[in-house]
Amino acid sequence: MVRKERKMLRFQPSGRLERRGWTHPVRRYFLFFVAVLLFSAVRPAYAEKTLLVEILPSVVKQGGVCVIKASSPATLKSIHVEFRGERFPLAFGAHQGTYEGLLGIDLNTPPATYEIKVVAMDASRRVHSSALFLKVKKVNFKTQKLSLPSSMVDLDPETLERVNKEERRLQDLFQGVREERLWSGAFLRPVAGELTTVFGLRRIINGQPRNPHTGVDLRAEEGTPVLACNRGVVVLVDQLFFSGKSVILDHGWGIYSMYFHLSEAPVSEGDRVSTGAMLGRVGSSGRSTGPHLHWAIRINGARVDPFSLIRLTEHLGE
Ligand SMILES: [Zn+2]
Repeated sequence: MVRKERKMLRFQPSGRLERRGWTHPVRRYFLFFVAVLLFSAVRPAYAEKTLLVEILPSVVKQGGVCVIKASSPATLKSIHVEFRGERFPLAFGAHQGTYEGLLGIDLNTPPATYEIKVVAMDASRRVHSSALFLKVKKVNFKTQKLSLPSSMVDLDPETLERVNKEERRLQDLFQGVREERLWSGAFLRPVAGELTTVFGLRRIINGQPRNPHTGVDLRAEEGTPVLACNRGVVVLVDQLFFSGKSVILDHGWGIYSMYFHLSEAPVSEGDRVSTGAMLGRVGSSGRSTGPHLHWAIRINGARVDPFSLIRLTEHLGE
C-alpha cells in the first residue's frame, strides 16, 4: 500500500507541476490529493480498530440518566467511561462485542456541554478511545423556606457524630461498582402513592441552605408494601437517624436504590430480591412528618431523579 502511494504521488500531478510551477493553488490541490490518498490508504486499518460509541439521550437535565453503548470488533480487555474527571466501567452488552452502562448526571452538575471519553484496551494492550458529547440542561429546582425551632434543627455533638458516620457509610457503599448486571427491564415505582416532595427541591431552614431533596417522597398509608424497583441484592438494612428504618439495594453497574422511613423491613443484607419483591412497609420512622416512602437512586454516586431512570429503562427494553 505504501509503495503504491509513493508511486502515485510522483506520477499523478507531475504534468501540471512542471507546466505551472509550484504555485499556491496547485500546492493546495496537491496536498488535498495527498490527504485523500493517505486517508483511503489508512482507512481499512483504522476501521478495524474503531470503537463505536453512542449516548442516549445526548441532551439531559440535571438529575437525569443516559445510557452509553459501545461496540468494537476487537476483543477488549477493559473499557471505561471518563466523565468530569471520574471513571466508570462499562459492562458487557446483550451481544458479543457490545458494552453498556448507565450514566447518572448528579443534580448539581453545572449545565454545559461535556466531552465524555470512552477508553478501551484490546488484547494486545492497544488503547482505543472515542469521544461523545453530552449537553446538560439546567433545571430550576424549587426552593422551600422553613422556619423551625432550633431544637428541631440543631443536632447535639453525639447525634452529629452519628449522622456523619452514617453519611460516610452510605458514601462508601455507593463507591462500589458491581460489574454484574442484576437489574433487567424497566425500573418500577415501589409504591403507587402520590408524589408529595419532588426530586431536587432546595431547602432553606431558618435562613440556612440545607441538602437538597435527592429522592422523591411518595405518600402512602402506613403499612403499604414497599416493592423492589428492580432485581438486586440487599446491601443495607438498618435504623438510621434521619432516614429511620432503611433498605438499600445494589442493582449492579453502580446503581443503588434506597427506601427510607419504613415501619418494618423483613429482609436481610445479602438477600437477592426480584423486581416487585416486598422489601418492607411504609412508615414514618426517622425524621418524618407522616407515613411516606422516600425513594432515591444513585448511579455511580450521582444523585438522580428516580423517575428519569424509570423513563429511560422503559425505552431501553431488556
Ligand atoms: Zn424525602
